[in-house]
This record gives sequence, structure tokens and C-alpha cells, in this order.
Amino acid sequence: MRSKLAALLLGLAGLPACAALNVFACEPEWAALVRILAPDAKLFIATHAGQDPHHIEARPALISQLRQADLAICTGASLEAGWLPLLQQKAANPRVQAGQPGLFFAAEQVELLDAHQHVDRSMGDVHAEGNPHLHLDPRRMLRVAQALSTRLGQLDPAQAGVYQQRFGSWAEAWRRQVLRWEERASALEDRALIAQHSSFAYLWHWLNLRQVADLEPKPGLPPSVVHLRKVLQSAQQAQPFVIVQTSYQDPQPARWLAGQIKLPVLSLPATVDSQRLDLNAWYEGLLTALLNAATPAGRS
Ligand SMILES: [Zn+2]
Repeated sequence: MRSKLAALLLGLAGLPACAALNVFACEPEWAALVRILAPDAKLFIATHAGQDPHHIEARPALISQLRQADLAICTGASLEAGWLPLLQQKAANPRVQAGQPGLFFAAEQVELLDAHQHVDRSMGDVHAEGNPHLHLDPRRMLRVAQALSTRLGQLDPAQAGVYQQRFGSWAEAWRRQVLRWEERASALEDRALIAQHSSFAYLWHWLNLRQVADLEPKPGLPPSVVHLRKVLQSAQQAQPFVIVQTSYQDPQPARWLAGQIKLPVLSLPATVDSQRLDLNAWYEGLLTALLNAATPAGRS
């Protein structure tokens, strides 16, 4: 309690509101971390859960927001390769160019899944540097938050201690929450499922779920009829309990397959709600949806 009070007092004694950092977040999950660590920051979020972050248009509104930013926080690992470099070029803001402390990539703070797989572009729009969807692992989120608190302190040295304090109290609560989630999710252990793309791979990895088929024939390529028929033939043996996709993916392929093999389809948000920026509520929702699908009424 005492450290929280100290953090609060330090925060009040810190920079005046007019000196608040101006932050550009490529995706809402990073905005959620900024809200925790730097609640006074002026925050702009470039995308929302209904959009596919691999494919975003470099609109003028995004360019003008990046032009004003002291810090751009993005996923990296080429997730934004199709739009962020263009924004950086057009915004011409020296603070958020490559190598500057004002450009923070979450993927550079943690080890990525599938980082060393063989890659060539003929395989589709594969993630060459590893799977960038790391915000689906709460333990990696913790490490990103820690690195972000250090970076905020570099950009705003007068408040460096406050960022560290805020990280400390959040991390303590987050670690406890992760343990509670792990306990709750034990019913999912080693269960098989079908999913679209590697969007939720970190979630499967964390909860020991097995993705036995991908609706995409190759990473980044849309599901084809030929491929879905193959999935239909091969995946049934593994006894998947659900088909999972993100709310921004085309629902038709998953629905077709679900009709053939009599499985429920879950369309899950790939990130936090942009208004609430509540990481706990988002993880809670993912877990609840999976548990409900794994133990339908009457079978549990
Ligand atoms: Zn992806």
C-alpha cells in the first residue's frame, strides 16, 4: 500500500499535464500497456480489433498522428511491414525513425515462436522473423511492459521512477492473475483445435492446446476449397473440439468446415477493445469462450 501511495504522490509531483508524452500505438494491446504505465500520455491507436493489422491503409490521419508522436509503439517482426514504413516516411518525424528511442517494437523484447523456420516468399505471406502475435502470451506481455517502462523512462527521465513503480505494482497483480488463469485453463490441456492463421499460436502455446490444422493453406493465404477438403479429411482423427478464427477474418470458410464436421466456431477478438483497453477482460473473455466450447453443457 505504501509503495502505491508513494507512486501516486510521485506521479502528482511529476511533469505538468502539458508535458505529457504523445504516443502512437500501432495496435490496441500496446495502447493498453501505455495506459497502465503512462496514464497521462496522449494516446492515439492506429488500428482496432475489427481490422487486420497485417493490412492497414496508410491514411492521412495516421500520418499526421505519427508526425506528432514522441513514441511509436508497434508489434514489429514485420507485422506492420505493409504500412508502418510508409507512415514513417510520410510523417518525416525524426523521433520515430529506425534506431531512435521513440520507436519501440514489442517483438524485439521477447523471443518469438517459429523464429527459425524455413521461410521463402513462395510460402505465402509468412512471418519471416517469427510469429509476431505475441500479445496472446501474458508472460511475454509482462516482459514487453517491463522494457516499455524502461523506454518511457529514457524518453521522460524526470518520471523514470514513476514508470518503474507503476510497472512494479501492475506486474505483481498480473503475475497472480496469470497463475489464476493457468489454473482455470487446466481443463484445456492437450486438447486439439483447428484455427485460422497463426493469430492465436501464443495462446495455444501458453495453455498447452494443440492446433492440428490451419484453415490457411500457407501462412497468409486465404483458405481454399481444396485445402479445406484436406483439412476435413485429416483433422477429424485428432478430435478437435472447436474451430477458432479472429473477428476480422472471413467467417465463411470456418462455417463451411464446421458444418461438415459438426464443430462450434469461435470468432474471437484478436486484441483488446480500443475503448476499454482492458487486457484482463480480454484474456478473461478468450479463456471463458474456450472453456465453454471445451465443456459444453451436459458433458462437463
Ligand atoms: Zn500474422
